[in-house]
Amino acid sequence: MKMMNNIDEIIKVIQKNNSFLITSHINLDGDGIGSELALYFILKKLNKKSVILNQDKLPRIYNFLPDNNKVYHLENNFSDIKNIDVGIVLDCSNIKRIGKTYEIFKDIRTVINIDHHESNEKYGSLNYVDCSASSVGEIIYNLIKFINIDLLDEDIAACLFTAILTDTGSFRYSNSSSKTFEIASRLTSCGIKSNLIANNVYNRNTFPGLKLLGKALLNLNMNESNHVSWLSITRKMLDDTKAKDEEIEGIIDVATTLNNVEISALFRETKDNKIKVSFRSKGNFDVNKFAGKFNGGGHPNAAGCVCSGKLDEIKENILSELFNDIKHIGYKNKDKYFNNRKDSL
Ligand code: AMP
Ligand code: MN
Ligand code: MN
Repeated sequence: MKMMNNIDEIIKVIQKNNSFLITSHINLDGDGIGSELALYFILKKLNKKSVILNQDKLPRIYNFLPDNNKVYHLENNFSDIKNIDVGIVLDCSNIKRIGKTYEIFKDIRTVINIDHHESNEKYGSLNYVDCSASSVGEIIYNLIKFINIDLLDEDIAACLFTAILTDTGSFRYSNSSSKTFEIASRLTSCGIKSNLIANNVYNRNTFPGLKLLGKALLNLNMNESNHVSWLSITRKMLDDTKAKDEEIEGIIDVATTLNNVEISALFRETKDNKIKVSFRSKGNFDVNKFAGKFNGGGHPNAAGCVCSGKLDEIKENILSELFNDIKHIGYKNKDKYFNNRKDSL
């Protein structure tokens, strides 16, 4: 077992040091960015210097978050990252997920890993992993509670609410616990408007983005039993519609909304000639374990992997593995997945 630290040890290291570099995973999402900014605000209130640096650019849908112009990415030609005492990695199950910022993080002596993935590899000098948390946002809230809850303000609440909202699929996934709702409630009492946050995240589609969704749905497939759905997005579809890669986010969730479908997969060609696969499950099928077969990971109901090769071959290979796996499980109690993960599949 690799070292797991308690929250006190993490806070001590934060209090003892002065200069922090914060990062999250490639294909930055709401949990990563919301948690980064909330931590940045807290460190500022503690009179610490901190910089947020990610491999990828901030997705447009998060440009409403306070101080989002303080979120740098590698192409920003950014030089203010000397003399870093502590690196903080958020929402990454393994260190490779931070992408090219690893070149900077590998030289930082103390790295704190804060995450909620079951498959976390405890790669930090300090590791705080809580798999019962819906999101890293929920963990950062608990961290603030331990430091001093009076530090919580409207800006921090907006960032944490965004992290929780997006990682729970707007409170629809099984990771939404009573703790999650309690924290969300406390955050809304800080003055934030949850409907405005939801509008910013979900109701600002672009015309090319919606056209891409249309094209993707034209090649939506289901298996004979209607329990699995899948679709693909090629570079040509992105070029034809002029949609951005970040606008693919959310398309897999549409495929998952199909009645009776328990598992969905989205295959897409990335800019760097790889095939990125996203998996979603509404029921008891553990897509984290399944993605693990292809060196990927994630959560039981949402996971992904990256493969090298041709889209069609990878799709065929992964789908035949998937059909083989579910053949052994059978579909008992399939109608009950709305009630409890354990009753499903
Ligand atoms: P995505 O399909 O990219 O939205 O990812 C769904 C979940 O799986 C998120 O929790 C990701 O952090 C995780 N995930 C996606 N791709 C990978 C990967 N290649 N390795 C490990 N975890 C991944
Ligand atoms: Mn994430
Ligand atoms: Mn997360």
